[in-house]
Amino acid sequence: MEKTPLLPLPEGMLIDQIQITATGLVIAVVATHPTACCPLCAFASSAMHSHYRRVLRDAPCAGRRVQLCLTVRKFYCRNPLCERKIFTERLPQFAEPWARMTMRHCQQITDIGLATSGKCGARLAARLGIQTTRQTILSRIMLLPNVLTGSVLYLGIDDFAFRRGGWFGTILVNLESHKVVDLLPDRQAGTAARWMRHHPDIMVVSRDGESRVCKSCLSGCSPGHSGRGQVSYRAKSDRSYPTPVGTMSSRNRGCKQSRRVREI
Ligand SMILES: [Zn+2]
Repeated sequence: MEKTPLLPLPEGMLIDQIQITATGLVIAVVATHPTACCPLCAFASSAMHSHYRRVLRDAPCAGRRVQLCLTVRKFYCRNPLCERKIFTERLPQFAEPWARMTMRHCQQITDIGLATSGKCGARLAARLGIQTTRQTILSRIMLLPNVLTGSVLYLGIDDFAFRRGGWFGTILVNLESHKVVDLLPDRQAGTAARWMRHHPDIMVVSRDGESRVCKSCLSGCSPGHSGRGQVSYRAKSDRSYPTPVGTMSSRNRGCKQSRRVREI
């Protein structure tokens, strides 16, 4: 068994065997820690019940695909108060219990997706020796937790296309920070109105005159309806006020400019 800096593994895990195949590397890894903690009660146990083989995709090595064959052990939980009698040892910071790839490999795919897109990301990943699909890349991005954005006072709302001419959504931008606050899966007025009802701090909403997320949506947060804030409308001919998408593409515009809006 060996431990190599070229393939960092969690404490207590060692490389048992490395096999070079036509498609990449198959690396057998074993756990050597004498005990494991029950995931339910955190009671340490050294009473091994059995073991099984688990296959995980890992980050590629010099363009070669890497497949880890882990020998994972099961232990008895000796805590009489615990409901779990047998548990599988966990690999924190390395692999989720039922995942088919390591966390670092997941992170690579997510990073590629964030830097490119689903389709381009899949092409780039293939060149880097990462086996994935655009659906996997997109699902990794969708699983990212929502970033806590704090209160939004000046909101920009506009349509955008997930796929040109096909699937449209709604983009919501904080016009003060010039950052995307959220992406809604459609451009239905009700979806945007529901979102705005959960953000009572909104004072001003800017939208494109051509946006389909229009009057009915804004009525969900209008002063008459909710008793808060003011709603603004940007006519298409009013070039002095940036649309949300325009805001994203022209970062040098200050948020004060966004306040120069005709309030209705
Ligand atoms: Zn337990």
